Order: sequence, then structure tokens, then C-alpha cells
Amino acid sequence: MTKPFASSADLAAKEQTLEVLADGVYALTAEGDPNVGAIEGEDFLVCFEALATPVAAREWLARLREHTDKPVKFLVLSHYHAVRVLGASAFGAEVIVAHDNTRMLIAERGEQDWASEYARMPRLFKDPDSIPGLTWPTLTFSDTLTIDLGGGRGDLILRYQGRGHTEGDLVAWLPEQRIVFAGDLVESQAALYTGDAFHREWATTTLDRIAELEAETLVGGRGVVARGAKEVDAAIAQTRNFLDVMLDEVGRVKDKGGTLRDAFEATHTALEPRYGRWPIFEHCLPFDVSRLWDELDGIERPRIWTTERDQEVWKQLQS
Ligand SMILES: [Zn+2]
Repeated sequence: MTKPFASSADLAAKEQTLEVLADGVYALTAEGDPNVGAIEGEDFLVCFEALATPVAAREWLARLREHTDKPVKFLVLSHYHAVRVLGASAFGAEVIVAHDNTRMLIAERGEQDWASEYARMPRLFKDPDSIPGLTWPTLTFSDTLTIDLGGGRGDLILRYQGRGHTEGDLVAWLPEQRIVFAGDLVESQAALYTGDAFHREWATTTLDRIAELEAETLVGGRGVVARGAKEVDAAIAQTRNFLDVMLDEVGRVKDKGGTLRDAFEATHTALEPRYGRWPIFEHCLPFDVSRLWDELDGIERPRIWTTERDQEVWKQLQS
């Protein structure tokens, strides 16, 4: 028996919840679908993540417009993945911000990633024909970029924390409110996608830098908002544990001369009790283990996922 490919059979709509995290700070969560956010400046908005299509993004903007009619000046993209960037045209943003490496990755593999993610998660691509093309950042940075929100609202600090979920993830940090939008570097009660990841760096220094912020509210890439230091720590710990278990299991199988399939089965067995019921666990794990196998083989940068390679790995591991 082959399981339906990735999330191709997941067609049930998820309930979206708009939460006001502080004055002028918003998050939209969706039961494990990609989260998005917005931060009000004095007379403008910063939006965080763009969803998969302009039609999906316009639904989010309609919800946001119940709270504020300020124009979107900045659209911040946490990383290059299609389901977070291809809705960008709906925002009419003056500036589209991302990390330097995100621009490089869009140029290098944006087309293939679009095709791959569309086949893996078709439900997220509402009206796929509304996508005008790849999304290109208009402002990139290497380490830190600070946006002055004006009007006594403080700063929004975009920080690169090292390689993790991809080669170019950023987090958006509000030091006064102690709120962090972590993108896919941290998941709160959702499984991890690590198919484009740098597991060893992510599990150590990258997550350490996020923990050092001592955020009191954390919006992860998927899953619920973590509120209070205890929940924030738990979200970071569950993310780190997922990676550590993968590193242990895949490393052990490799040391014993086992196969990729053995590594997948060992990792699945080890993670399933804690993470198996969380969103996208079964979908992600074949791609996750495949990438970690490469990483431990010394393949420095993730191989590009194509629709063909997706199907091959799925058949090899999930059948
Ligand atoms: Zn991602």
C-alpha cells in the first residue's frame, strides 16, 4: 500500500484564527497550515509571509482590514518556500524584504520549488492561476535589518540566525513587546519540514540564538501561538528534539551500514509517538530523512527537489 503522496489527499479546509498579540501586532494561525502576521507602524503596515497565492493572501488581508486600513509598506518573507512567498503580489507592498540567501535560492531553485510544493500541497494553492510568477525580494540583507515603526511603536528587527530550515531564514523580533515571528525555524505543535535544512546547525547555534531572545510570545511557521516563556521554551524544545532524534536515528543507521529505508523506518518509529498526530508529519518525514542522509554523507547544500525526485523518494520510503 502506498500512502497518498505528501499532502495531496489533505483537502479539508482549516479554520483560520486571527489573534491580536499586542497593540497593532497580529497573527493568523490555521490549524497547522502556514501562519502569517502583520505589525502596524505609525502610518504603514509590515506584513510577515505572503501565503501560496494572491487569492489566498487577499482572504488574509480582508481579515486584517477589519483592524487596520494602513497601507502595506514592507512585506517580509521568512524564507523562499513557495507556500510563503507566491501570494506576494496581493499586498501591493512598497518593499519586499528577505535574506540575501533567499534571493539566491529563488534564482537557483524557485521554479522547481513552486512545482514541487504545488504537487505536495495543492489545497494551499487557492486559484493557482492568480500567481503572476516568482516573487523577487527588492531589499535583502546579510545579518540584521531594523525597521523603525515610528510613532513610539519601537523597532521591528529582522535577524538572520544562521542556517536552519533553509539557507536563508530570518526571524522578525519586536524587542519591546518581546514577540518573535520565527518562520519555519520553530514549529509549535506541528511537525518539521527539513527537506532543505542544515540539521546540525539548526539544532544547535541557530535555535540557541532564537532562545537567547527570551521571547514571551512566539509565532512559529505552523501551529498555535506560544504564549508565555514556558510555551515559547516548549516550542523551541520540541523543534530541537525533533532534529536531535532525527540526527540520532539516521546517524546510528548510517554507522551500522544500513539503508536510507532503514533510516526512515527507525526515525519514524522514534518520532511517531510524540509527533505522529501533528500536522504534516507523514508528509514531511520521507523528504526530511532523505535530506539528512545527504547531509551526513557530506553533501553540503540540499539537492533541489523536483516533482520527479519527490515521487521517487515517496515511493521508496512511504510504500
Ligand atoms: Zn518552509
